[in-house]
Amino acid sequence: MDSLPFINLHTHRKPQSKDEIVVRNAFLKAPDLIDSINYFCSCGIHPWLLSSDFENDLIHLERLIELKQVVAVGECGLDRIKGPELIIQQEVLLKHIELANQCNKPIILHLVKTYSDILEFKSRFKTPWIIHGFKGNETQSKNLINAGARLSFGPRLLHDESLQQVFKQTSLENIYLETDTKPLGIQSIYKKAAELKDIEINQLKVILTANFKRDFLLVLPNE
Ligand SMILES: [Zn+2]
Repeated sequence: MDSLPFINLHTHRKPQSKDEIVVRNAFLKAPDLIDSINYFCSCGIHPWLLSSDFENDLIHLERLIELKQVVAVGECGLDRIKGPELIIQQEVLLKHIELANQCNKPIILHLVKTYSDILEFKSRFKTPWIIHGFKGNETQSKNLINAGARLSFGPRLLHDESLQQVFKQTSLENIYLETDTKPLGIQSIYKKAAELKDIEINQLKVILTANFKRDFLLVLPNE
């Protein structure tokens, strides 16, 4: 890789170009399937997919997160709109945090209407915790970053003007960019983000690559 990569912190697709490094959400795929892929992924139980048999899913997850391609735990988290009652989601989230701490890997969080609930967990996190698809306001952004969170901004950044304002106020050392489920190139999100911050795309790549190495303790391909 001659130039710095575009890092896509949370996507449901494989890398779409040679200069893209992804963390693909692999949910709870079979270990041999994950063993055969040659890009990074994350594994966890999405709150929408929480079954009554989550104890078994957690045992499965414990095996998955040991694999070297699995660089993060998640997405997991809390959702007030969809999924089982919050008390169950909290119990399962805590298990994910323990697993992340145990394997010393970051955790990728799905949070819907729960930006204040997550603050109650802040002392539990021993590894970086990243809120994917962040769409909160400036106060929430500040409170979360002060508590130690990183914020990952997705496709919404392209058109949501109030989120763009929040993004402008958020320090680059605490952010990531992602495409999530949208069939977009990560390049388009970098372009918008650089424009909003009034910096060159390359400068943005330097900072986000440094963030990624810091949080994921990774040596990137071709280094
Ligand atoms: Zn997702």
